[in-house]
Amino acid sequence: MTRQRVFLLLLIAAVPLVALLPLPDFWIAQLNYIGLYALVSMGLVLLTGVGGLTSFGQAAFVGIGAYTTAWLTLNTGMSPWLTLFVGLALTTISALIVGFVTLRMSGHYLPLATIAWGLALYYLMGNLDALGKYDGLLGLESLSVGPIDIGQGRLFFVLCWAILIAGAMALLNLLDSRPGRAIRSLKGGSQMAEAMGINTFRYKVTIFLVAALFASVAGWLLAHFQRTVNPSAFGLKMGIEYLFMAVIGGVGHVWGAMVGAGLVKLLDDYLQVALPALIGTSGSYEVIVLGIAMVLLLKYMPEGLWSVVARRFPAPPRRVDWQQAADLPMRARPAPGEPVLQVDKVRKEFGGLVAVNDISFDIPAGRIVGLIGPNGAGKSTTFNLITGVLGKTSGQVRFRGRDITALPSRAISRQGMARTFQHVKMIADMTVLENVALGAYTRGSRGVLASMLRTNAAEERRLMKEAQRQLERIGMGAFLHELAGNLAMGPQRLMEIARALCCDPALLLLDEPAAGLRHKEKQDLIQVLRQLQGEGMSILLVEHDMDLVMDVCDQLVVMEFGTLLTRGTPAEVQANPAVRAAYLGTEH
Ligand code: ADP
Ligand code: MG
Repeated sequence: MTRQRVFLLLLIAAVPLVALLPLPDFWIAQLNYIGLYALVSMGLVLLTGVGGLTSFGQAAFVGIGAYTTAWLTLNTGMSPWLTLFVGLALTTISALIVGFVTLRMSGHYLPLATIAWGLALYYLMGNLDALGKYDGLLGLESLSVGPIDIGQGRLFFVLCWAILIAGAMALLNLLDSRPGRAIRSLKGGSQMAEAMGINTFRYKVTIFLVAALFASVAGWLLAHFQRTVNPSAFGLKMGIEYLFMAVIGGVGHVWGAMVGAGLVKLLDDYLQVALPALIGTSGSYEVIVLGIAMVLLLKYMPEGLWSVVARRFPAPPRRVDWQQAADLPMRARPAPGEPVLQVDKVRKEFGGLVAVNDISFDIPAGRIVGLIGPNGAGKSTTFNLITGVLGKTSGQVRFRGRDITALPSRAISRQGMARTFQHVKMIADMTVLENVALGAYTRGSRGVLASMLRTNAAEERRLMKEAQRQLERIGMGAFLHELAGNLAMGPQRLMEIARALCCDPALLLLDEPAAGLRHKEKQDLIQVLRQLQGEGMSILLVEHDMDLVMDVCDQLVVMEFGTLLTRGTPAEVQANPAVRAAYLGTEH
């Protein structure tokens, strides 16, 4: 049983227990608020903690859920159980619109944009006559099932925490799945994820939507619990507090949201009473103290409070339950000698600089072709033109006979071209197995909802089996459950190769795989390359290390100043005076 499941079971057992205990009503009410706040900040754990997208505007989505049910139940007499879904629909529409507009922004623009629309919605709620302006709407009915009022006290506590626990389970399931790994890879920058065939923008919109829906449900609950709604509960101050909760609790941990919500709520209440007594005047000073507490916490415990617990009880290795799973289907192999890649007069200009000057070459199936040349020759640029990371100024690239000139990198990867990176790009806090499974992303299809509901188990087992198989193929079967961040450089580079192999590629592109390796690690790499060669893999190898290139390549393409200097077998190239001149600076 994983650590997560233990907490889950404890929590599920605790809820009815707490409801039955003779706790004062005040404490039940506190727990109700904590549950509601935790629901919102749990969405933020996914969005900000896992996905790396900071939002100060979450309170606005709480507002949409709350106002929708308030207005509808008061004005149309609709049942609150139906208005929940209307609220979710409205939230979906607004989250999609806001998401599509703002999520392409990078750096600090996104948090600023969330502040902007958070404020905009606050003023909208405060100025609409139909919504009661800044007084809000009063006299909502409590939630009930038949004659039983479950909208207050202990029964509401059970309802609210049951929803919270269900949400936590859905999120935990999601994070431990194919789309979940894609979401966890967002923080590593889009280049790697896109190269694995992941549509990063779509996932950003998705987690933005999921977080908004969590907030909307909380708003619906809150409205019927308080039986009144007014804009102050949905303004920027609350938006900031929700983010506080997520960050203080431990922004990458689902359970951290509950700890954070509890702490902020209790501290907030305490300070509201204690501070005026201390300072002698009243005002919103608690915000300042909370702010200082958050700064200190981020400085001394940047991963939040829950990270302490997480370190104390490290997750045991994942249970291997995929031994019996069916193998994933494989692509048709190219016939030996068939041209896998045809690069035709490809050109790239950066302003006035011609970085790649009408380069042409082919890669026949089953061969290792080395792309070499002095520093600045244009090797990496050529690599990026082929893999679709950079747009071409002119020229054409064909892959297995198909024109891929204009395709983006994720579409190219879907066709069976896999790559590694000059600077290793991995998710350090995922295990080696999970990192490698990311490479098999395009070979699965189950989405977010299936993963939340755990109906993806069969596919998940097949993906894991494939990841393990590829790791064993390159001799890394002993590292499955190690965190990727704990690996030395050599194994990290091999892990990237396993990840690339997981996409079942017809062509493997390796960008300086020997860079930074020690002698022994380089020997291991050569071993792996020879083995892949023996298995008939086609490889394009961009590499600095001449010994390695001469050792493993069947053919070499030599570049200098963006142009093709010569091509041929390693022996031919070594004997070529022009190459010696380019490398050694000697005259022909
Ligand atoms: P190599 O990988 O062979 O060392 P590169 O492909 O990285 O060479 O670079 C080729 C040339 O293109 C260099 O002169 C480099 O400065 C230039 N270059 C590469 N990327 C860019 C860029 N994004 N903008 C402008 N110039 C670039
Ligand atoms: Mg380079």
